[in-house]
Amino acid sequence: MDRPVVDSPVAQRGRSEAPIRARILQAIFERRLHPGEKLTEERVAELFGVSRTVVRQALARLAQDGIVEQRPNRGAFVAAPSRADARHVLDARAVVEPEIAATACCGPATAVARLRRHVAMENEARAAGERATLVRLTGEFHIALAEAAGNPVFVRLLTELQALSSLAILLYARGEHAACPPHEHADIVQAIEAGDGETAARLMRVHIAHVAEELDLAEPNGSRPPGLAQALGLEPGLSARGGAGSGSEAE
Ligand SMILES: [Zn+2]
Repeated sequence: MDRPVVDSPVAQRGRSEAPIRARILQAIFERRLHPGEKLTEERVAELFGVSRTVVRQALARLAQDGIVEQRPNRGAFVAAPSRADARHVLDARAVVEPEIAATACCGPATAVARLRRHVAMENEARAAGERATLVRLTGEFHIALAEAAGNPVFVRLLTELQALSSLAILLYARGEHAACPPHEHADIVQAIEAGDGETAARLMRVHIAHVAEELDLAEPNGSRPPGLAQALGLEPGLSARGGAGSGSEAE
């Protein structure tokens, strides 16, 4: 797939906010930028050789997608999704991604070839023990699949969900090895290549469940801390942000 890889910052002088966003996303996918890390406007502007206005635009776009958190008088920070946020992300992925996998079966042969190459790169990175590359590639596989499905809305959605998943993995992974389990991407691609949308969707559903199992998303005391409104009895217990309606919430 076309990775969100960009030229060196120096080569981007005067350009739009898009390369800045792409580079921040890439750093999140590679888990080099961590949840809660401060993104100082001046410093980012200096590194990219752009004005602070351009940096502000990039950060505002990322904030819209929930990847950056802007705090009044304190600046911008890499988002630190709560366990509930992480559950919502995985619920959404469990609904959307099987559909994407099924749709990718109807894509052109060139799209399947790209997915194969992508899986081959994952295997190389795994064999070479290049962990940062592997986690980035396994995340990008899901975006590549959305591209293979030929729907730009899916691509944007998956980019956002994947970035939030990377942050959630950093915060809540049970072990060192949290990433997509080996072989599962290859199995999905094989089903797509065979034109078997039903199997591709089923394998993806199982895959997302495995990703979720790797995360410790139960609230530490077994229940969620009430928000202020709920604590004051001003709203029902359900989060206003809404999940994917899968009923997997534990409360
Ligand atoms: Zn995966």
